[in-house]
Amino acid sequence: MLKINKLYTSIKNKKILKNINLNIKNNEIHILMGPNGSGKSTLSYTITRKPYYNIIKGDIIFNKKKINKLSSDKISKLGIFLSFQNPIEIEGITMLNFLKNLKKNIKYKKILKYSKLLKINLDNLHRFFNLGFSGGEKKKNEILQLLILKPKLIILDEIDSGLDIDTIKIIFNILNYYFLNNKCSILIITHNTNIINYINPNLVHILNKGKIIFSGKKKIINYIEKYGYKFFNKKRICI
Ligand code: ADP
Ligand code: MG
Repeated sequence: MLKINKLYTSIKNKKILKNINLNIKNNEIHILMGPNGSGKSTLSYTITRKPYYNIIKGDIIFNKKKINKLSSDKISKLGIFLSFQNPIEIEGITMLNFLKNLKKNIKYKKILKYSKLLKINLDNLHRFFNLGFSGGEKKKNEILQLLILKPKLIILDEIDSGLDIDTIKIIFNILNYYFLNNKCSILIITHNTNIINYINPNLVHILNKGKIIFSGKKKIINYIEKYGYKFFNKKRICI
C-alpha cells in the first residue's frame, strides 16, 4: 500500500530523514519508535506533504502511484489519514460543522454514533474545534475524523501519548475493529512499549537520527523496554 524508497528530506536546509526505506503492505500494522527528535513526525508530515517538509530525493508511492508532488488535500482524498501528535485548535468553527464538512453527505446520526462509540461528551460537538479540549479529548476527536473519512492508510502520530488507560483502550478497541472490517494499513508512531498489549503489529521499526536503524518483529519492543535505544546502535545485533 505504501512504499518509500531511498527518501531524504530537509526542513529549511536542515537534513532530517536519511535513506528511509519502508514497505507497508495491505492489511499490515507497522509500529515506528525512536528517541525524541529522531524524525518520526517528520516522516508522517513528509508522507502527507506538509509544506516546508522538503523531499531532497527518493519516492513515496501509494498504491503504485507516486505521491511526492501531490498536495495534502489530494493525499487525503486518496485515502491517507494522519492523526496529529498535537491536534490544532480552530476558533470560530464548531466540531459539528467541521465534521459535517469533512465528508459530503455525512449524516448527523453517524457523527453521533461514532461520538458515542468513542465516549465523547456530546456537548463537545457544539464547542469550537478542539478549543480548550483536554489532550485526551483532542485525540478522540482525531479518531472521530478517521471514522468519518474511512481512510485506507492510517498514520497515528503518538495517538496514545498522555492518555489515561481507559481512553487508550477505547481508541485501540475501535482501531482494531476498524482494521478487521476495512481494507487498510496502519502506521503507529509511539513511545509506549505496552503498545503490543493493545495492537498486534506485523513489523516494528526504530528510527534514530533520521535513519531506520532496525526493523523486526514485535519482540524487539521488549529489548527497547529493557535496554533503551542504545542497544540498537551497536553494529551487529542478533535477536
Ligand atoms: P520526532 O517526532 O521523532 O520527535 P521530529 O520529526 O519532530 O522528531 O523532529 C526531527 C528533527 O527535525 C528535530 O531535530 C526537530 O527539531 C527538527 N524539526 C522539525 N520540524 C522543524 C522545523 N519546522 N524547523 C526546524 N527544525 C525542525
Ligand atoms: Mg514527533
